[in-house]
Amino acid sequence: MLCNYHTHTVRCKHASGKDEEYVLEAIKNGFDCLGFSDHSPWPLYEDENSRIRMELSEFDEYYKSIHSLKEKYKDQIKIYIGLECEFLEDRMDWLLNFKKEKKLDYILFGHHFDSRIRNELYFGHYKNQENCLERYKETVIKGLSTGAYLYLAHPDLFMKTYREWKKEFEKPCLEILKVCKELDIPIEYNLAGLITRSGYPCDEFWKLAGQVGNKAVIGLDAHAPEHLCDVNLVLESRVKLKQLGLEVLNHLDF
Ligand SMILES: [Zn+2]
Ligand SMILES: [Zn+2]
Repeated sequence: MLCNYHTHTVRCKHASGKDEEYVLEAIKNGFDCLGFSDHSPWPLYEDENSRIRMELSEFDEYYKSIHSLKEKYKDQIKIYIGLECEFLEDRMDWLLNFKKEKKLDYILFGHHFDSRIRNELYFGHYKNQENCLERYKETVIKGLSTGAYLYLAHPDLFMKTYREWKKEFEKPCLEILKVCKELDIPIEYNLAGLITRSGYPCDEFWKLAGQVGNKAVIGLDAHAPEHLCDVNLVLESRVKLKQLGLEVLNHLDF
């Protein structure tokens, strides 16, 4: 089976294409399911911004648009409606209520920001480098424990800050991976990061995941319809991850 649960839309302000073009591209390339998981809106503090996410006021239109495509193409592809969200401890009640009230199929754990949505706290370009992985680890583990998320997207996002692997990263990474294993939460091998050489997926991190025996999902993290065409890379990545010792899930039940 061929599925992608990590798909964005123009509403996040850094993606392109019409919602329907993503669906048509997925059908054309033989996908059995397509999950939309655009960057989640959050209630924001005054010092936060929504530059890389939809506005809260856009959510209903997002849902309606994807829902109509789900109906329109139901004989050709299974479509899911989700979001990609951080763990923001002071707003998790809001998120869990929102997920229930809006009847979302799932939420991906894309932990971009540490406690507040501010540039210096972006884990891909963390200002206080020394603390980046430690803060990432602490908050990711707390987030995983909420049970709110389907899988951990780009689990090695912090490598975008560091770029070079250090031996001392092993211990905190093993802690994250072991919690994923215990809670049976898959981790995502992120192909957008791979294609754009963003520092992740990081081979050393994935070797550790192989040792722990984590479950993995391959995510295209599509920000344009044409990002759904790289089926060969999906197939090659499945082989690579299996060789490392991971269990690759081609399809998720939720
Ligand atoms: Zn994005
Ligand atoms: Zn992300």
